[in-house]
This record gives sequence, C-alpha cells and structure tokens, in this order.
Amino acid sequence: MTGKFEIAVFQGDGIGPEIMAPTIEILRQMSDASPDYDLTFTNAPAGAAHYAQTGDSFPDMSMEIARSADAILLSAMGLPDVRYEDGTEISPQIDLRKKLGLFAGVRPVRVQAGQSTPLALPPGKEIDFVLVRESTEGLFHTQGCGEVLENEARETLLITRDVSEKLFKFTFDLAEERRKQGKGKGHVTCVDKANVFRAFAFFRDMFDAEAKQHPQLEANHAYVDATALWMVQKPWEFDVLVTENMFGDILSDLGAGLMGGLGLAPSADIGLNHAVFQPCHGSAPDIAGQGIANPFAMILSAAMMLEWLGSRNDNDALISDGSRLQNAVEKVISDGNSLTRDLGGEAGTEAAASSVLQEVLVA
Ligand code: ATP
Repeated sequence: MTGKFEIAVFQGDGIGPEIMAPTIEILRQMSDASPDYDLTFTNAPAGAAHYAQTGDSFPDMSMEIARSADAILLSAMGLPDVRYEDGTEISPQIDLRKKLGLFAGVRPVRVQAGQSTPLALPPGKEIDFVLVRESTEGLFHTQGCGEVLENEARETLLITRDVSEKLFKFTFDLAEERRKQGKGKGHVTCVDKANVFRAFAFFRDMFDAEAKQHPQLEANHAYVDATALWMVQKPWEFDVLVTENMFGDILSDLGAGLMGGLGLAPSADIGLNHAVFQPCHGSAPDIAGQGIANPFAMILSAAMMLEWLGSRNDNDALISDGSRLQNAVEKVISDGNSLTRDLGGEAGTEAAASSVLQEVLVA
C-alpha cells in the first residue's frame, strides 16, 4: 500500500541536532527513491535549550505535532546545567512516554560476528535479543514528586494490571513476529524480583496469564540480578526479555555496553497508537558542537521507525527499507573504515552517516 507519513522531529539538545540532520537526510533520500511511501518531517521544538530560551521545555504546540504525527523521531534531550527550579532535569521524552501511553520500551541488543564487543564471544555465537522495558510506571511512577522529609525519603513503585497486560501482550506478539522472521528462538523471559516484592509476584502472574495464550512460545522467569550476570556470561541465549521500568533502564545500558557503547544502541517507545524512536544515549554535552558524535544509534532508531510504520500500515516497502537501513549500518560497523571516535575510529558524524547512505544506495 502506498502511503504518506508525517514524522514529528524533536531535534533535542547537545549532539541531538548533529545526529538528527544526517539521519533525516538518509530518510529523505530513501523516501524520494521509493514509489511506495512518502515521508514528510515537522520540527517540534522542546528540550533544555528551548527551556533556557523561552521558559517552556515542552510547548503545547510541539505536543500537538507529536500527537498528530504518524511516528515521532527524537534525538536526545536534556543538559546537565539547565534544570527546573526544583533541580530536576528537563526530559520531555519522559513526558511524551506518559502522555502518549508509550508503555513498551523496545531495546534491541545485537552483536554480529566481527563486531567489536567487550565480551569474548565463543566462535559462532552472536548476540541478538530484545529487552522490553515498561516505560510509564514502575519505580518511575513518582518521578519528580517523591517525598523527601528531613530524615527519610520515599518513592513508590507502581505496577498496574492495565499497563502490564498491554505490555505482556505486546512482548509475546513481538517474540512471535521475531520467530516468524527467523530472528528469535521464540523464548520470552519475565525479569523481576518476585522472590522479594509482592508487586513483582503480581507482575509475574499477569505474565504467566499472557504466556498461556501463546503455547507456541516458551516462557520463563529470571530474577533481575541473575539476568545482569547472564547478560555478561551468556547473552546469546536470550531472545525477548520483559521487565519493569527501573530494571529495564539499568539493563538496557548493560545491553548497550555489550554492543560496544551507547553510540550503537537504538530504542523505540511504543504504545497502542503512537511511537517514539530515539537512541539510548543522552545529549553528550561533553562532545557537542565538535562534529564527532556517533550517529549510528540515531540511524538504527530511524530504521526501527520504518519497520514499525511498515508493519502498522501494511507497507512492505517500509519494512524492507527498515531492514536495508539496519543492514547498512551493520555493514559500515563491520567494515570498520568509517567509525567514530567512541568506536575507535576517526570519522566525524557526517562521514560516518554518509558511509551508511552509500551502503543504502548500493543495497
Ligand atoms: P542521560 O542521562 O541524558 O541519558 P548520560 O549522562 O547517560 O545522559 P550521555 O549523554 O549518554 O550521558 O553520555 C555518556 C557518555 O557517552 C559521554 O561521555 C558522551 O560523550 C558519550 N556518548 C553518548 N552518546 C554518544 C554518541 N552518540 N557518540 C559519541 N559519544 C557518545
């Protein structure tokens, strides 16, 4: 099916605009070359620099642009020196997750043969799993309004039936989709701490109920501490993992570490009607303005966006362009000739991104 798709673009702070510009350029060229879809882009101002200039970190107009778009592309937001009066950081991306109900934080972790990783992978082993992080509640429930008294402080962890049931359905559907595409083994693991906290026993019960609806998939449980150990000792055994917000926050950085750094880790925050695609890393103010930021996580996030738009709208061209873009980034990484400094190379942002574009054009 041919389709026109409007993309809301949050350029963000720090290195955000530097990695967004070449990503949009690649997407524009792919869209121009395809008779089967047409992407248009609308900027939605928001973030720490916008707050410093205007006193508003997330204008209503930008929320409206996001809400009415077919998909949302976001780079990185927040600057350590620009904060609200109560000292908390500016993070419109978290407001977006809550306001648009983006309960499923999808964090793919892939290390292919030849790609550098801090682990010594046994011969023939590759890492290819997806961590699904609940992204609207859990221990982030009281974010910004935790109770701080003179001698104690409190935050509340919230697990709801409504969000958990949607989360588990999404996770099992994802595992099924991966299995059909020959990417996964059809295993889903619930990562929790059900031996200590009743809230996680509740979480696990709802996972088990959803598992019963998917007899073709294998479902099991793992405690979060053991999962951290296994992600280092035998990460090739995982397929799809699902967990609470804070556990997922921590494990996704461990996943990024397996991939050789934050500069290679893409993500998506997906709800029933909207989705935001953004790299896992922050705005990296220490290297902003130098043209040396790694654009690969941003480009891989854009590839996830194409695949999501394609499956949601029955558009095979978008799905295949999503994997073409992912393959192009992986080819540039494994060739090793156009790596940015964080990956041990010398290429700048523009050069690294234009190598990806060349790969896409020849693929
Ligand atoms: P946040 O809390 O907003 O997620 P953070 O404090 O975890 O941010 P980042 O901004 O992600 O930090 O940066 C952490 C380190 O990784 C910094 O040294 C930064 O320069 C580096 N880094 C992050 N993203 C990239 C990138 N795309 N290219 C190169 N280096 C990066």
